[in-house]
Amino acid sequence: MDFRLSDEQEALRESVRDFAREVVAPAIAEHYEQHTFPYEIIRQMGKMGLFGLPFAEEHGGMGGDYFALCLALEELARVDSSVAITLEAAVSLGAMPIYRFGTEEQKARWLPKLLSGEALAGFGLTEPGTGSDAGGTQTRAVLDGDEWVINGSKAFITNSGTDITSLVTVTAVTGTRPDGTKELSTIIVPSGTPGFTVAPGYSKVGWTASDTHELTFDDCRVPAANLLGERGRGFAQFLRILDEGRIAIAALAVGLAQGCVDESIKYAKERQAFGQPIGAYQAIQFKIADMEMKAHTARLAYYDAAARMLAGEPFKRQAAIAKLHASTIAVDNAREATQIHGGYGFMNEYPVARFWRDSKILEIGEGTSEVQRMIIARDLGM
Ligand SMILES: Cc1cc2nc3c(=O)[nH]c(=O)nc-3n(C[C@H](O)[C@H](O)[C@H](O)COP(=O)(O)OP(=O)(O)OC[C@H]3O[C@@H](n4cnc5c(N)ncnc54)[C@H](O)[C@@H]3O)c2cc1C
Repeated sequence: MDFRLSDEQEALRESVRDFAREVVAPAIAEHYEQHTFPYEIIRQMGKMGLFGLPFAEEHGGMGGDYFALCLALEELARVDSSVAITLEAAVSLGAMPIYRFGTEEQKARWLPKLLSGEALAGFGLTEPGTGSDAGGTQTRAVLDGDEWVINGSKAFITNSGTDITSLVTVTAVTGTRPDGTKELSTIIVPSGTPGFTVAPGYSKVGWTASDTHELTFDDCRVPAANLLGERGRGFAQFLRILDEGRIAIAALAVGLAQGCVDESIKYAKERQAFGQPIGAYQAIQFKIADMEMKAHTARLAYYDAAARMLAGEPFKRQAAIAKLHASTIAVDNAREATQIHGGYGFMNEYPVARFWRDSKILEIGEGTSEVQRMIIARDLGM
């Protein structure tokens, strides 16, 4: 058992860390305040190869693995979660379904631009009326000749409405199985297809420099060839995508938790109270020690889940544990970091205010904490 990073992994981590500090940190606060999408930062992340990290070179990827993606997400989220979630959703929810389940033609058409970061894709699973219970999908797709006709709506879809969004993959009911349950399939809907409408962006508490929209499909027609993978495999596909995605979200949460430690140490050394820096008080030191402990253990949990996944072993339970633990401690650390900053922690100009606002969604997106507990309990045979 060896949790040390290889030289290559360490180099990747350092280059993303430098990028986050030098490029993301100075520019992101304004995007966050203005709720604008940071196109220039995303363009530079594309040039660095971050969108291609876990994909094979033959498709335009960097030939790395999912753990490399996690390392990059952790370092980005240590500074800002909007850019981190943009990368996470673009890679693990946007490009990955096409990479894993697409035909050679679909891969050749869509992947090069997605993997270079010149284009983004959304993953449309959640609906206004159903999230955790994804089997309750209401969106329907009916085959009419050589076209799918899609009707329904999707809620909270990340990266679905940017100027560079090229497609969304949509889960839809395509029939009824012999046992009476819904047959779910996944269909690629290119941006700009008639009948596909992207609502204005949501007004969000956090991740305000990321892109999230409600989508509607009104007799939206796409070629039958846009079916992603086998008909009726939609449920199995999104379970696989979400299992992997949980490791990535755990990495992102660890980054936020570690960013809280970074900012708290800095502030505790500077801020004076009762004649000395607040960091001289054991009450503050213990808070920071606990925050570091939490970030460290959550990191080990996602390293373990990623190692199992890359070894081809079952990893569902470990991914759920990593996501549950990392999101819980991210919220804890954001709360404590804000407390250490006192009144300034409540001011948006301080990064910890952003961390606080960005932390809560980690307990909700890509499976709520309750859903993670359901997965763990089920895997334990309950
Ligand atoms: C900013 C943002 C970005 C997102 N991006 C995407 C995206 O790109 N693609 C996408 O498809 N979705 C996306 N989502 C949706 C997200 O995954 C869902 O919000 C999440 O899965 C929860 O679903 P819900 O909101 O419908 O909550 P619900 O499922 O309605 O849950 C409400 C509450 O009930 C609890 N609950 C539900 N069932 C049970 C049960 N059986 N036992 C105990 N408790 C239960 C939940 O844990 C939760 O606390 C995004 C959401 C947000 C806010």
